[in-house]
Amino acid sequence: VQRLTEFDTIAAISTPLGEGGISIVRVSGEDAVEIANKVFKGKDLTQVASHTINYGHIVDPASGQVIDEVMASVMLAPKTFTKEDTVEINCHGGIVVTNDILQLLLANGARMADPGEFTKRAFVNGRIDLTQAESVMDIIRAKTDKARQVAVKQLEGGLLTEIRALRQEILDVLANVEVNIDYPEYDEEEVTGQKMLGCVHSVGEKIDKLLETAQEGQILRNGLKTAIVGRPNVGKSSLLNYLTQSDKAIVTDVAGTTRDTLEEYVSVKGVPLELIDTAGIHHTEDTVEKIGVERSKKAIEKADLILLLLDSSQELTKEDRDLLAYTAGKKRIIVLNKTDLGAKLSAAQIAEETGSDVITTSILQKENLDGLENLIKKLFFKGIENSNDQVLVTNQRQAGLLAKAKQQLADVETGLESGMPLDLVQIDFTGAWETLGEITGESAPDELINDLFSQFCLGK
Ligand code: GDP
Ligand code: ZN
Repeated sequence: VQRLTEFDTIAAISTPLGEGGISIVRVSGEDAVEIANKVFKGKDLTQVASHTINYGHIVDPASGQVIDEVMASVMLAPKTFTKEDTVEINCHGGIVVTNDILQLLLANGARMADPGEFTKRAFVNGRIDLTQAESVMDIIRAKTDKARQVAVKQLEGGLLTEIRALRQEILDVLANVEVNIDYPEYDEEEVTGQKMLGCVHSVGEKIDKLLETAQEGQILRNGLKTAIVGRPNVGKSSLLNYLTQSDKAIVTDVAGTTRDTLEEYVSVKGVPLELIDTAGIHHTEDTVEKIGVERSKKAIEKADLILLLLDSSQELTKEDRDLLAYTAGKKRIIVLNKTDLGAKLSAAQIAEETGSDVITTSILQKENLDGLENLIKKLFFKGIENSNDQVLVTNQRQAGLLAKAKQQLADVETGLESGMPLDLVQIDFTGAWETLGEITGESAPDELINDLFSQFCLGK
């Protein structure tokens, strides 16, 4: 019998490679314990109780060479992350040793895991749904504690529970429709139609609520693209220096992000900001021709948030006005800097003229920088702060499917209002139910699932 690749035994290094104190090599699948036992010298791992940690050595059975002193955790199905037998070998870190252990496991019957394959198995084996799988990825990539908290909440099944409830609401009415179609003599079309309409409204409203969280969810996940703009000498570099000081800078070790990119991430009260075009800000102060609106345009276009700096000790210049006009359509905060030099500009007046949030600072004297940070946070996390149990839609895929389901429900409403027969309206209604199922993976096509898991890091 040819075994499905889905269920062969896989192995991978599950900790970031490097000179860490401890690395973990994870093995999962039917033969996990047997394979690990072949390279382990200590207790007989096939005889130990489940969920025990066992001291011993990794020894190459072919040469007898001792590779490392390790602790091997044996966890038998089904109470494991993948729901399969799992062995985790805690070794001493270091690329060479960790890799040697992995190679030894591969030589003794395990297959190298694909990126995300452990998580995929957790999904395929029914331990988690797609929203939870995605949150595993989010936890790995979380840029701030807040982002991590939201992802952990998701892993506990927050969104899953909500989506299931919505599907159930639709299903209850669908059952009614079936009765109606099968037993037309009851002639309850109208009653059933009313029920369907009620359901469309109720579910639609809940979808709207979830969609409202999508923007905040995305920001938490990806960072808020922020551009610092202003004419020369207003204090851009000073603000940048303040924001990137070490306790705010976020060190990302996500695969693909290199240290030499122009982007820098900082955490402002839990809001991850991605500072864009920071190289453009580090200009030479006296080469005037390099600066100005033109230069900022690209950054402004890409940004979710503009921090527009003005020198409050001077009257507005043409360049200030150009920047004000050019950023008018964007979410922005106008920072009146250099208040320590006396104010020529009125915050209240500029706020009224621009309709934007205005704040006064002295970056040099570190005055009101906390106020600026609070404003950034307030602007983007209206509801989140106080409701730690709030469910957030954190990615494009989820948001896209919610919007699609919403549209299908709107089509149901239009159909009902124009007197379409129930069995026709039912098509979109069932469609909405299926679309919601795609969010959790209950009705997701295989290629989508493969695509999704391939985005994971190796060893997760
Ligand atoms: P940029 O050209 O916009 O990047 O401005 P910089 O950050 O390089 O600042 C230009 C000059 O203004 C520097 O000498 C800063 O120290 C100074 N500066 C920045 N912020 C303030 C402030 O709040 N008050 C005063 N008095 N000077 C400031
Ligand atoms: Zn500068």
